[in-house]
This record gives sequence, structure tokens and C-alpha cells, in this order.
Amino acid sequence: MIRVSFPDGAVREYQAGTTSLEIAKSISEGLARKVLAAKVNGEVWDATRSLEQDSTLQLLTWDDQDAKSTFWHSSAHLMAEAVESMFPGVKFWVGPAVEKGFYYDMDLGDRKISEEDLSVLEKKMNELAKQNNSYIRKSISKEEAVAYFTEKGDEYKLDLLSNLEDGNITFYTQGAFTDLCRGPHIPSTGVVKAIKLMSIAGAYWKGDEKNKQLTRVYGVTFPSQKELDEYLAMLEEAKKRDHRKLGKELGIYTMDDDVGPGLPLWLPNGTIIIEELEKLAKETEQAAGYKRVVTPHLAKESMYLTSGHLPYYKESMFPSMELEGQKYYLRAMNCPHHHKIFAAEPRSYKDLPLRLAEYGTCYRYEQSGELFGLMRVRCLHMNDAHIYCTKEQFYQEFKAVNEMYLKYFGIFGIDKYVMRLSLHEPSKLGQKYVDEPELWKETEAMVRDVLIRTGTPFVEVPDEAAFYGPKIDVQIWSAIGREFTLATNQVDFAQGRRFKLEFTGQDNAPDTPLIIHRAPLGTHERFIGFLLEHYAGKFPLWLAPLQAKVLPISDKYQEYAENVLQKLKNADIRAEIDDRNEKIGKKIRDTELQKVPYMLVVGEKEMQEGNVSVRRQGKGDMGMVPTDQFVDSIVVEKKERRSEQ
Ligand SMILES: [Zn+2]
Ligand SMILES: [Zn+2]
Repeated sequence: MIRVSFPDGAVREYQAGTTSLEIAKSISEGLARKVLAAKVNGEVWDATRSLEQDSTLQLLTWDDQDAKSTFWHSSAHLMAEAVESMFPGVKFWVGPAVEKGFYYDMDLGDRKISEEDLSVLEKKMNELAKQNNSYIRKSISKEEAVAYFTEKGDEYKLDLLSNLEDGNITFYTQGAFTDLCRGPHIPSTGVVKAIKLMSIAGAYWKGDEKNKQLTRVYGVTFPSQKELDEYLAMLEEAKKRDHRKLGKELGIYTMDDDVGPGLPLWLPNGTIIIEELEKLAKETEQAAGYKRVVTPHLAKESMYLTSGHLPYYKESMFPSMELEGQKYYLRAMNCPHHHKIFAAEPRSYKDLPLRLAEYGTCYRYEQSGELFGLMRVRCLHMNDAHIYCTKEQFYQEFKAVNEMYLKYFGIFGIDKYVMRLSLHEPSKLGQKYVDEPELWKETEAMVRDVLIRTGTPFVEVPDEAAFYGPKIDVQIWSAIGREFTLATNQVDFAQGRRFKLEFTGQDNAPDTPLIIHRAPLGTHERFIGFLLEHYAGKFPLWLAPLQAKVLPISDKYQEYAENVLQKLKNADIRAEIDDRNEKIGKKIRDTELQKVPYMLVVGEKEMQEGNVSVRRQGKGDMGMVPTDQFVDSIVVEKKERRSEQ
């Protein structure tokens, strides 16, 4: 008998050789139908693999990311089976799961897969899925494996085999297809209920352009048609909301070849959004007791040697420049500059917590192939702050930071978010993690406690902490359900020591502060990219570059329109007049396209009574109201930063 421990702490005994799937069945048939893979002693396994020793077991279903990856990777095998039946003699390289779906790289010889072939392949995959073939794992000697692929004439698999050690090699077979693979896979093909092959691309073998170009086919699969339909609808919507497209249409930002790749130029409309975000951050941080600082964008090499950015982070930094025999680097992070401000004068426990905030400009080297609109850039403006506090103050400070995140989510209508609490791995202390076992335990417990006590949804991820402390990665979802990684909230008990930061404790002895790194609004670049998609460019009033447009029905009402405009401007509303000689219908349509929150139509009746006829973006005609009343209401809506549109 073996003892199996479950995540809820239960321990049960089973016959040695029992599979995870059989264990699931013994719990309930319904559960067994949903099990796609199993996490055994922390490693993802086939659910059909037998357990031979005492183990920890977590049954994985579609909701687990590891199960999704297993499902998609298994779908790559299914696609390969369909491709092989359509193109006999095809040779395969690798077929991994990706963030959403999978691909397989293949060598079709002189043949080509066309877009039309994709639907034929989908049909074939559906047929094969319905056969509900099991994915059968078989350990195989290197010699036999080499013989198999030599016979098949697949030099790509032979290349993979040449790097594998005998005794560690497995084959997987489903239906008529056998692949060299380490696994894991789903139990059988029948759970793949919906299939979409997305695209075909060329990919050089091993990513080297001197090598042969292989054909890469991307696909995605789901356990139900409904989920596939929803996913495709979301992609369609995401295309309409693409921040690069909207960024151009709405005059938010531009790129210029002479400035350089990944260096966005913020246009006037984008700059208004930046300033509104900074205003929000300043107000919020001031109320929370932060102090603002301003620091240079570069520093001498010595500072980055102290911080450890050099040499460990060097690849992500711009190359150095030399001045007066000294090397300088553009900064990739703001922390070291803030640490120097902490160190600039003697500190006592009475000065703590010290909270230093700055919308700091950083420069990071991202490979040109990685650059993507505002999402991946080389120059970024970060909603940064560092909180220096004592151990006793930590809980309260971390809680306040967490509450700030939640407050922002409320303002931006971000309903779905998850905090990923990244923890250290005790066996890697002194290597991947600072060797402070007690501090790790203490701070992790404090962070967990904050999340639990504030009812914040979170998941724990082992072995993903920063070198110097536990961190929270924040994932948010836009209105159309696309995921973004926003920012991290980190605890740091190492940098303080590296920079020899000290304060005098209550007992008069020197002590090192804990540091919290936080950036709830991330960077302007990524956050505004997110907001463009989230709002589909229809910014709430307080963020909208142009908040109201006055539309006179004809030039007879120009003077009255100017009168209305002046009232708006006096109330600090960003407004304009459409004084073109156009029909009112056209003026309304054009203003709709600009996504201006309010349109104020003025004609004879409005002028006689001192009124405006209000049209709200997305809501249409809201009727006629006295101008002063409208101005009062728009001022309140702006001040409250309402997110309804
Ligand atoms: Zn595989
Ligand atoms: Zn920092």
C-alpha cells in the first residue's frame, strides 16, 4: 500500500500501482471525467501513470494552467496525427503548448499546407478526437528509439534524441501516431471537443536563419464548443480594440524610425491621459503619506554594482556610455536612486515608514523582435515608490499598498484580477534566494495574512519569488477577458543591506529597513495600452482627452456655442466647438468616431432658453437641460472619476 496526500491535507491509502485517474474515479465518476493530468510530488504527470510510492497528489482539471498546457500539447500530437495522414512522410520537429493553444513545426518536403488545408485538417482532427484514443506512454531504449526514427527517416527527431540520455526516453502513441516525447499528456483524445487551427507561419529550424525553414501550424482546442466560440469572439473584439490601432486613430502615441524602435512619442491626447493618471497617483499617494522625489535617468556603474543590476541584469540594460573616465548607465529601475535618497541623511525609527514616490523614467533593452506597441517598449514611465519600514510596520504598510491596488481597480472598473503570491523554495536558499530562512517565513506569512484578511483573491506559486523577497504579481483582465500582467508588489530584505541603509532603532542600535517596491499603475506604456483595449478607446470622462464638443446646428448659433464653450472652459472641462459648415448629422457622426463623451447640440430652441441638448457617447440623446445644470453635473462626474460611460 502507498500513502497519498491531497491538497486539502487528507491522506488516503491505495494499492501501489494505482493511477491518478483511478484515484479520481474512486472519488467520483464526474471528477474522473474532468481530470486531464495530475501533479505528483510537484511534477505534472499523465493521469494514467501509476503511483508506486507515497506521494502528494493534485488532480488537475481545465481550470489549472498546467492542465491547459497538457491539453494543448496533447492537441499538438493530435494535429500531427492528422497532418501525417494527409501528408505521409512529413517530418516533425517540436510541438509545444503556448500561452493560448499550441503549434507544431514540421518539414513537409516540397509540399505546402495552405489556409484551405486547415479546415480539412480540423475535420480530420475532430474525427480522430472522437475515436477517443488513449495517449499511451512507453519507456524505450535509446537504441530502439534511434532505430524507429532512422527507419522513419526523420532527422529532426534523431537530432532531439542525440541530446537525450538512455534510460530517460519515452514514446507516446495515440491512434496511428507515435512521437518521441517526455509528456505529460491527457488520458485520451475524446476530451478535445472543439478545434480551431489558427494560422501557418515559417519558422527556421532551431530559430537559426541559416537553417532550413520549417512550417509551423498554430491551433487552439477546448473541452467545449462554447469555450471555443467565446475565445474566437474575444479575439475578434480584441482586434477592434487593438491598442496600436486605437492609439493611432485617437492620437495617443506614435513611433518614429529616427527616434528608434520601442521609444514611443506621446501625442497631445496621450499626454492628457498620462497627466490625469499622474494626478490620480499624486492625490492617492499624498493621502497615503508618500513623499515625491525626482531623480536622474542615469547613474554611474558603481551604483549598479552595489545594487547587483550589474552584472546580473546587464542584458536588459542599454550599453554604457563613458564620461570623464567613468561609465554611466541609463537606469532600468528606479530603486537604487531612491535608496540613495534614504541614505542621504541619518534616519531614526521615528522617520519610518519613509515612502518615496516618483513616476520614474526607465530604459530597458528589449530585443527588437520582442517589441510590441506600447506593451513592450524600451522607454517606460513607472508609477514607482519605495517604502522603507521596520519589521513591526511591515504588515500595516503592505496592507495599505494592497488596498491602494484595490482602490485603483475600482476606479478603472477592473472586476477580474488575481494576485499571484510568489514564494521561495527552501532548498534553493543561498543560491536563487537570499539565505535568510526566518525572514522568508516571516514575510511570506505576513503577505499571505494581508491577502487573506482583505479577502483578495490570490494563488500561491512556489519557487517564483524575487531573489530578495516574496512578491505579488498582479494579473488583471480587460473588459473583453484578455489577461494582462500589471505590476509587482515586492518585499525586499536584501537591497537595504547591499546599500548599507540604516536607521537608529528604539534601542539606539542601528537596524536595516525592510523595503516594499510597488507600482500599482504599472507603467504608463503598458497601462494605457491596457486601458485602450479595456475601454475600446471610449475613455471615461475624467480620462477622455476631449470631454465635450459643442455642435451648433448652423453658424447662426456660433456665438451661442462659444458662450457654452466658455462656461465649460471656466469649469476646467476640455471642450471644443465643431464650427465646420456641415450638417448636424455629420457633426454627430464624426464626434462619435472621436469617442468624445459628451456632445452638446445647440440651435434656436437651446439658444432661446439658455439650454444645451445633450448626447452621451454610447447612450444617445439625453434631452435638453439648462447649460449651467449640465456644467455642474459634468464637473461632478469628472471629479468623482466615474467609470460608467
Ligand atoms: Zn508530447
Ligand atoms: Zn524598486
